[in-house]
Amino acid sequence: MDLHSHIEKILWTQDQISRRVSELASQISDDFCAIQPPPVVVGVATGAFVFLADLVRKIDLLVPVDFVRAESYGSGTESNGAPIISFDLKVDIKGRDVILVEDIVDTGSTLWCVIPHLESKGASSVSVCTFLDKPSRRKVNFDLLGKIKFYRGFECPDYFVVGYGMDFAEIYRNLPYVGVLKPEHYK
Ligand code: 5GP
Ligand code: MG
Ligand code: MG
Repeated sequence: MDLHSHIEKILWTQDQISRRVSELASQISDDFCAIQPPPVVVGVATGAFVFLADLVRKIDLLVPVDFVRAESYGSGTESNGAPIISFDLKVDIKGRDVILVEDIVDTGSTLWCVIPHLESKGASSVSVCTFLDKPSRRKVNFDLLGKIKFYRGFECPDYFVVGYGMDFAEIYRNLPYVGVLKPEHYK
């Protein structure tokens, strides 16, 4: 009752999300089915945890799953500068293809930090699978993104969204859909 009453508008429902995640998972399963060893799925904590959980359960490959944490956001809606890796992988990715799973790619600074980190640990390739993409907000201008395989669930309009893993001040991650908060709750 408390949780849902904070939402002004739903952008993607549970059903829409579930259908799109199935499409992404079968695309990934097809693209990597002939590759040995299978790719390692790496989520960016915390935001990617819900999407990653749904995605990997629909991927029909023998994939290890791990997390890194990259911190740049405070508790607000704006990034506070260049992210750093504050929690690292347990799985050895040397010589492995990596599928990096993100909740949302916004300015691009998180990817700009995490992709080179994975490469420095010996990943033979890094692909990105992001649930949402806000290309209109990109600041980091990667050639990188031209070179890598980029899967995305939906293009997101320029709203600060919550739910399906994404927070405002560490809450709302457990909303099963994606929405926008009522203005009085962005405080
Ligand atoms: P970037 O580094 O690309 O600017 O932002 C990446 C991270 O910022 C995302 O993984 C996410 O944690 C956070 N972020 C960016 N846009 C949004 C948004 O609209 N809502 C929420 N909750 N987090 C966002
Ligand atoms: Mg994230
Ligand atoms: Mg956040």
